[in-house]
Amino acid sequence: MTIKIHEAASLHENTLSFIHRERHKLLIGGVWVEARSGETFEVFDPATGDLLGHAAAAGEEDVAMAVAAARAAFAPDSEWRRMTPQKRGELLWKVADLIEANARELAELDTLDNGKPYRNSLYGDVPQVVAHFRYYAGWTTKIEGSVPPVSVPNTLNYTRREPLGVCALIIPWNFPLLMAAWKLAPALACGNTAILKPAEQTPLAALRLGELMVEAGFPAGVVNILTGLGVPAGSALVDHPGVDKVSFTGSTEVGKLIMRNASNNLTKVSLELGGKSPNVVFKDADMGKAVKGALWAVFGNTGQMCTAGSRLFVERPVYEQVVEQLSEAAGGIRVGHGWDKSHIGPVVSQEQMERVLGYIDEGRSSGIEMHRGGGRLGERGYFVEPTIFSHDASGDDLRLIREEIFGPVVAVTPFDDWEEVVQRANHTEYGLAAGIWTSDLSKAHRLAEALQAGTVWVNAYNLFDAASPFGGYKSSGFGREMGKEAIDLYTQVKSVWVSY
Ligand code: ADP
Repeated sequence: MTIKIHEAASLHENTLSFIHRERHKLLIGGVWVEARSGETFEVFDPATGDLLGHAAAAGEEDVAMAVAAARAAFAPDSEWRRMTPQKRGELLWKVADLIEANARELAELDTLDNGKPYRNSLYGDVPQVVAHFRYYAGWTTKIEGSVPPVSVPNTLNYTRREPLGVCALIIPWNFPLLMAAWKLAPALACGNTAILKPAEQTPLAALRLGELMVEAGFPAGVVNILTGLGVPAGSALVDHPGVDKVSFTGSTEVGKLIMRNASNNLTKVSLELGGKSPNVVFKDADMGKAVKGALWAVFGNTGQMCTAGSRLFVERPVYEQVVEQLSEAAGGIRVGHGWDKSHIGPVVSQEQMERVLGYIDEGRSSGIEMHRGGGRLGERGYFVEPTIFSHDASGDDLRLIREEIFGPVVAVTPFDDWEEVVQRANHTEYGLAAGIWTSDLSKAHRLAEALQAGTVWVNAYNLFDAASPFGGYKSSGFGREMGKEAIDLYTQVKSVWVSY
């Protein structure tokens, strides 16, 4: 086996020793174990295509063991169930401290595995991960019930917010560590036990996070980590009757499958799925800000964001100007490996690169105009040029405009009036996010109301905070992560009646 690390990477000794283990294990019941089958899968560096190691490929048996461990950890008399909320909060805070202390290593692992610029991993993703654990550490002592004013005489009715039980957390590869935090932090804050299934493209940082959680002192079985393929590892988790809740982030296609399969056991499901988000620039916007905002809205993280502002609507009088400035700005984007001073990295895998290039080819042959980009960059690694198409309303039903590409591709289109932009912006099966650029705040508020999206940004894009809820309308899913909404997502309400 030859592990190869990018020549430009100068890695922390802990990262090197982690990578040089070469073969990574599963965390089940507090113990690191091989998959029962002994099977592994390969992990690649998308900036080079080189092998980074082998991760254990969990199968049905491993899933059954992890569920048993998580169930045992959730038993009524278990250490975890008896733990005070305050102590649970302290454990989550300790994880945050450990992540902070190991920030460099975690950021390096995410960059190796996902390809994103190291600066983004270190100054973007990892601090947000820390913030999530701290935010939910604070929540453990604030998960309250209520005392509804019932009209039954001599009766007290009160509610308790209780954990759901064993939560299967299935995450994608675009923000490997952050997606783990989005799910683990609230699930554990609420007193659940968890089985995390990282994406097969990017399992490494989650494994290191698992080690830090063991070090923080979570009782065995409270946090389990199963690396493996969607099928069988993810699917077996969804099918298992011992799982109480599945929280999934990923494609709409897999989300639908998960919902169908979870219905067999009526397992609770929350889904954060794809998007095809409209980003609307009015002629009265601060053009410098709007163009820069529109640029990073879609090209940030190489377009691999469910919120990517991939449909850019521009009011006709400024349309030509925006297309021109956007093309020029896109030309200044440095695409490169994460260890260089690149703005964006490769897409995550060869398969993803081929998908993205396929959409671009289709756009080209459909006859709409391409202003910039359109191809692969270099021969090594999976780099795709930032690509800009433009089209008029007749192009709205092209696959390129309708489907989520999850790559650095934007389609710009002019609009003339309010009714048109509302109708066309909402003409999508998705409803995850939207952007509005204008100096007229009344218009911004009106449009924020009219757009069918779980998140709307005004004169900004891709702002996130642990305190603010996030999730989709329409086929972008349901359930809200982050904020106090995530507490509802990982608890159920019990109503207790007492006659006196
Ligand atoms: P993407 O398109 O971002 O790769 P996917 O929806 O394919 O997203 O994958 C997101 C996560 O879902 C990954 O962890 C993947 O392994 C998992 N997954 C894929 N297929 C299934 C399935 N049939 N059941 C459960 N999980 C799955």
